[in-house]
Amino acid sequence: MICAPTDSKLSIEKSAPGRRGLFCKNPLRAKAKVPANLRRKAAPRLPELAEFDVVRHYTRLSRLNFSVDTHFYPLGSCTMKYNPRFNEEAAGLEGFAALHPLAHDTCSQGTLELLHELGSRLTGLLGMDAITLQPAAGAHSEFTGLLLAKAYFEDKGQKERNEIIVPDSAHGTNPATASMMGFTTVNIASKSDGRLDVEELKKRLGPKTAVLMLTVPNTLGIFESNIEAIAKAVHDAGALLYMDGANLNALIGLVKPGDLGADMMHLNFHKTFSTPHGGGGPGAGAIACRAHLAPFLPVPTVKKEGGRYVSDFGDKRTIGKVKAFFGNTGVLVKAYAYMLAHSAKELGEIAECAILNANYVAAKLKDLYPPYSKEYCMHECVLTPGPDLAAKGIKTLDVAKGLLDRGFHAPTVYFPLIVHEAIMIEPTETESRETLDEFVAAMRDVHAEGSADPQALKDAPVTQPVKRLDEVQAARQPNLRW
Ligand SMILES: *Cc1c(COP(=O)(O)O)cnc(C)c1O
Repeated sequence: MICAPTDSKLSIEKSAPGRRGLFCKNPLRAKAKVPANLRRKAAPRLPELAEFDVVRHYTRLSRLNFSVDTHFYPLGSCTMKYNPRFNEEAAGLEGFAALHPLAHDTCSQGTLELLHELGSRLTGLLGMDAITLQPAAGAHSEFTGLLLAKAYFEDKGQKERNEIIVPDSAHGTNPATASMMGFTTVNIASKSDGRLDVEELKKRLGPKTAVLMLTVPNTLGIFESNIEAIAKAVHDAGALLYMDGANLNALIGLVKPGDLGADMMHLNFHKTFSTPHGGGGPGAGAIACRAHLAPFLPVPTVKKEGGRYVSDFGDKRTIGKVKAFFGNTGVLVKAYAYMLAHSAKELGEIAECAILNANYVAAKLKDLYPPYSKEYCMHECVLTPGPDLAAKGIKTLDVAKGLLDRGFHAPTVYFPLIVHEAIMIEPTETESRETLDEFVAAMRDVHAEGSADPQALKDAPVTQPVKRLDEVQAARQPNLRW
């Protein structure tokens, strides 16, 4: 599965003078007119390797990757699910991939139609009136949403609204976005059932409140079942309800956030809609909103006029652009292909499977790893190592490292911050029962090892290219070069 660490030489170390992959009889000499003083004096120090050495080198590196394509990846709050290859094909179609971003509307009808259709299908599913597909990520969507709120209150002459309320069960990007934008963040502690404390919220709402940012389901994997009462309280105070819907695969097709009272929300295409998450590739987010926020949306959006699709630069109240052109359209093509492949009913089944899988794992582990909440969870469950392991000095980190030796990526650990020693597992809807059973068996095996021989678990991992790292030193004094 993973190569032995011994063949870990860099290509430059494998280099031998004169070794070549390709010989050209008449090499093309560059004739660029580079001024003499700018030309290099010595040849660049590049590895000299045979073609076969290069093939082996990169194949070996590729096998060091831990990915959804090779392993189960239960990283909570990240939705590391399998994404159908077909959607990559769709995004690669020449008409989409080779379209020049400055092409005139008349030459971009296909892409404009796709963006228009994707937007209107989504607003329908979400119970919203308007949408922008421009943001490049979830956090970027939050930034866009708060810009909308700012513009909205300025337009109403209510500049004094400079507070954003963020429950402690929110995703970390929520308070970060609010403070980055110069708002004052007001934190509210969750109740013991993991939900927002509505009475406390009512006390904190006031004439300075701009927005309540509510992560749904929250980072404890719990649905905010009081959301209608929350929305009413927020609206009675003249504020806006922002819903962080990054993890829409827990809700899609089952509930419409607009019906619940959200004024705006974001979603992550690189979680729910078929773009791989992680690895630094492009993502995309969207802000969907109700009609009262629509005039402030970024431009351009796409509208249909007499059978043609045209860029719409909106009215003067727009916040402007948040991303070049129409955003990361390749990601949006994948999302559209994904939506075409699933009816509204099937999208609901996706959410049901995501929820079922998380509850299955929680139920199979609850005797050894007590869940934070006694209730059913949504698409992810938050567990803890439990008193037996704690008595042996075993921490969540040890459990995570033990899983690596058993062929599983670690779940999210120590998040959400409000749960001591949290282990946050998101199986996603694409995993089979067999895989979940294997994962459960691995978790139980880790527990058995931790109980019988705690030191062995503290030494994990032992099968990986590197052993247990000194995480503090790795963070403070990273050694990132050869
Ligand atoms: C992933 C996530 C975000 C942030 O999304 P990015 O695309 O990583 O910026 C925000 N909120 C929640 C609930 C998330 O799960």
